Amino acid sequence: MREDVLRVEGLSTRFFTGEGQVNAVENVSFDVREGEVFGIVGESGSGKSVTGLSLVDLVGSPGEITDGELWYRDAELADEVREEFPDVVDGEYVDLRGVPESVRTSLRGTSLSMIFQDPESSFNPSLTVGEQIAEAVEVQQRASSRPRSTRARTDGEEYSLGSLVLSFALPSRRYVSEESRERAIELLELVGIPDPVERADEYPHEYSGGMLQRAMIAQALAGEPDVLVADEPTTALDVTIQAQVLDLLSELQAETGMTILLITHNLGVIARMCDRVGVMYGGEIVERGTLEDVFRDNVHPYTEGLLGSVPDLESVGGSLDPVPGNVPSLLDHEMEDRCYFADRCPKAMEACLERPPDTRVEADGDHVVKCVLTDLEYGESPPLPDDHFETEGADASDGGSNESADASDKSASPDGGDSR
Ligand code: SF4
Repeated sequence: MREDVLRVEGLSTRFFTGEGQVNAVENVSFDVREGEVFGIVGESGSGKSVTGLSLVDLVGSPGEITDGELWYRDAELADEVREEFPDVVDGEYVDLRGVPESVRTSLRGTSLSMIFQDPESSFNPSLTVGEQIAEAVEVQQRASSRPRSTRARTDGEEYSLGSLVLSFALPSRRYVSEESRERAIELLELVGIPDPVERADEYPHEYSGGMLQRAMIAQALAGEPDVLVADEPTTALDVTIQAQVLDLLSELQAETGMTILLITHNLGVIARMCDRVGVMYGGEIVERGTLEDVFRDNVHPYTEGLLGSVPDLESVGGSLDPVPGNVPSLLDHEMEDRCYFADRCPKAMEACLERPPDTRVEADGDHVVKCVLTDLEYGESPPLPDDHFETEGADASDGGSNESADASDKSASPDGGDSR
């Protein structure tokens, strides 16, 4: 079996907003193995993207990782920090939450990198695409030459007004170095951008959506990361371009051997790309396992509902069968102390009115489910009447806002919207 490159244990990320505490990610655990594609799937508002941002330490204020451990395998780093921080080293693994922020920053891009959801808003419109990729290359080179410490170009004089004027007068000065420019062009070529020399000097608005997504992948690869977190990398693209970008990710993975954590709401993308998958709901991973565990031998009714809402080409003309109801509010004071899916679950029982634990379906297996159905047959505990949660809903709307900062009002569908 392949070794874990990342072990996430009990991760919780909260946002402290004016409306109250939002439990965006709650006690999430999973492992990602070297060279695999691990997928995270769920509808909008389930906590997928915040999980990805937490892994690369990019949760900004008012958010904060409040609990959990992120064990990353890096023998060199383990040796470097073992003496000073013995409690956060376990063999070749280092708990990234226990090391100084400067260490985590130095790992970003070089060890763990991220492709963001929306390339159009992620690129700086006032710099050429080549410059921005070259900057990522430069950061990686500085990190390599000064391990565990890095300084972005923005710290230096390169962005002064004088240098901006100079950059327009002398285009080659826009790049930190000729080497980083050449590497940026190589990376653009690697991701299939035609005429990369010319394209490197173009601005983001001159790229099509598909090309910009490729450029973002090039930027994420600049540091030759071990783990690439790809957050909805194809959401904004049309179907043909989606297929091209997915093919590209597969090719790059085969070439470089990197590990990919793929975040998507699209079960088709999961089936096509992933080795293993975690299904998220209400900030939790409610079922995880191999594709076979989740697609064929699933236990959690939410997983079953998601799969049931996928359009079936065999029954053209039939209606879609979405999971009824809405994703739960993630506001702490509105979250009920029970299974978060109970108000939408067709198999809700009295036993579900307590928080279900993570349970392995087989003692020595990897298929883990957060649902009482791992131990009980439906009906072994008294089923809840259909109107059981109506009073709860009425109470919640009387007591204050029923909106989550993260919740969507869409019915669940694996293709129901973007992630967050
Ligand atoms: S714990 Fe109960 S309510 Fe929750 S998903 Fe399982 S059966 Fe449904």
